[in-house]
Amino acid sequence: MKITIKAMMISALVAGGCAGEKQAQQDFNYSDERFADLQMLRYKVEGFEGLTLKQKTFIYYLQEAALWGRDILWDQNGKYNLRIRKVLEDIYQQYDGDKQEKNYQGFETYLKRTWFSNGIHHHYGSEKFVPEFTEQWFRETIEKCNIECEDLDVLCNVIFNPDILQKRVNLAEGVDLIKTSASNYYENVTQEEAEAFYAKQKAEGDSLHPVMYGMNSRLVKDGSGKIYEKRWTTSGLYAKALQKIVENLKLARPFAEDAKQQEVIDKLINYYETGDLKAFDQYSIAWVENTEPLVDFVNGFIECYGDPLGLKCSWESIVNFKDMEATKRTETLSQNAQWFEDHSPVDAAFKKDKVKGITAKVINAAILSGDLYPSTAIGINLPNSDWVRKDHGSKSVTIGNLTDAYNQAAKGNGFMDEFVYSQEEKDLIEKYGDLCDDLHTDLHECLGHGSGKLLEGVDGDSLKAYGSTIEEARADLFALYYLPDEKLVSLGLTPNTEAYKSSYYSQMMNGLMTQLVRIQPGKNLEEAHMRNRALIAHWSFERGKADKVCEIIKRDGKTFLKINDYQKLRTIFGELLAEIQRIKSTGDFKAAQALVEGYGVKVDPALHKEVLERYQRLNIAPYKGFINPVYTAVKDKDGNITDVKIDYTEGYADQMLRYSRDYSNLPLVNE
Ligand code: ZN
Repeated sequence: MKITIKAMMISALVAGGCAGEKQAQQDFNYSDERFADLQMLRYKVEGFEGLTLKQKTFIYYLQEAALWGRDILWDQNGKYNLRIRKVLEDIYQQYDGDKQEKNYQGFETYLKRTWFSNGIHHHYGSEKFVPEFTEQWFRETIEKCNIECEDLDVLCNVIFNPDILQKRVNLAEGVDLIKTSASNYYENVTQEEAEAFYAKQKAEGDSLHPVMYGMNSRLVKDGSGKIYEKRWTTSGLYAKALQKIVENLKLARPFAEDAKQQEVIDKLINYYETGDLKAFDQYSIAWVENTEPLVDFVNGFIECYGDPLGLKCSWESIVNFKDMEATKRTETLSQNAQWFEDHSPVDAAFKKDKVKGITAKVINAAILSGDLYPSTAIGINLPNSDWVRKDHGSKSVTIGNLTDAYNQAAKGNGFMDEFVYSQEEKDLIEKYGDLCDDLHTDLHECLGHGSGKLLEGVDGDSLKAYGSTIEEARADLFALYYLPDEKLVSLGLTPNTEAYKSSYYSQMMNGLMTQLVRIQPGKNLEEAHMRNRALIAHWSFERGKADKVCEIIKRDGKTFLKINDYQKLRTIFGELLAEIQRIKSTGDFKAAQALVEGYGVKVDPALHKEVLERYQRLNIAPYKGFINPVYTAVKDKDGNITDVKIDYTEGYADQMLRYSRDYSNLPLVNE
């Protein structure tokens, strides 16, 4: 499963500023070019220079293995994609006419969008792009540039005819989902035939340990009416790309971090060579149990969002390594879990006698490829096989350097200037925002969710539909209550007892107003995290109203939040934490309902309208994606790698063209 982020989310959540330890990042360009509804970003591979040569070499070959899979996804996304990309890139490189001309401008945007989506359909909405250049211009330009294109009529029809291949993945009911989806997972078969084919496989297979039927093949019907699978293996479909992946996995193998990790690689290679789905499960088990190494990677057919039937898996890869700084932080909190439990403001009857903190795993991405590039996830939870998860567990990670890049890029987008009350708050957020946001997340995940206990005989599901909102509020309040605490200063996690104010301000502003930018006009809050943030902010605001703890200030027709008494606000958060814990521990459904419905659901339409208008004027791109760093191996005369250099200066178009030139060996038509 991918933990994705609607691109709008983080920028709307008010990112903070540079904390002392992150000063160096100021020189790094997180934002790159912007086009259509897209913003390109860069991520920094924090800590790469500090890795050993062995680890760097391991990463080097794994990122090569990652990049060789790119074209597989292009073909999976649509059978004409590789052909279209070739023609578009030829034009892009050979065109010497007026680049300010309207048709050329439209063409360039079309190519950049196609690169971004790994095909001619929108990466998120999956609808086919409408070209902003004419077919006539396209045909004339191809002729002028002397570009060979045998099937030009076919490609023109695919690109310019709005009535065919309209959606990559169609999920609308009532029609044949395979026939109406442009993705390249089925050939000549109807939805009914495909469903029958896999129902039969399922019925005949092991029901206790079912493999993921159909995940690594195209299902085709030949001229005689026979239906069969063309497997994606080193000797089947996509053979040439998979052979290069295997070749680089073999080069990586000697540099793996332990014997178990070598076994993981062996099993992955075996699966790529045989296409055997039982072999894939064996690989997944070895992978999920291999938790020690610093460097880890995903490389394979993983997610099934691109198939309307949810069987066929798109190819993707991420190479990553543990963020030691962040992991140290969560370990410190975990080791002190009992202290936090004992000192929390909740009733002693609801506290755990023995509490165990969780160490959250934060990783840094080193390369993104396939279905994780350029649009990506900020967290990953794998494997996807239900029985493997049940019997062997799963790995759940958050990708620290990508979240960081979203945050950094959100700076300077005008959001803070528009919504934050005064320079004083902006300075606080600028100085401590990132640090406190990270710490808030750690407190929430490592301690908050694990704290407290149910009274004996209380059913864990008593709060029903309100359960997850209450649970998220409990974890958030635990974090908010402790952020100002001297204990965090003494543990070295916060620099002083002022820093927390940045987080208090962001959280209250977000809960009271700015998270509304993610809600459609006329709609209420539905998602548990959003309800929880609204609940905390509105309840606390009202609680402190008489003492003017927080105030709403109107300035030039705009609404602002002002916090007058941060200490008092902490006390209020403590009171709400105590009440929420009581509700959870005793299973008080009525009280949960009253809190959530009273403070966490409804939206003030006038404020909502105002916030949306102010946000729209900032013109922030709704979707974001990443440009990868470039790795270069320095070799001695015998070909041994003596160092791996990392560089961040490559541009978006240059990167795409280089990948198409250096990592492309599949035929333009894969049958
Ligand atoms: Zn949570």
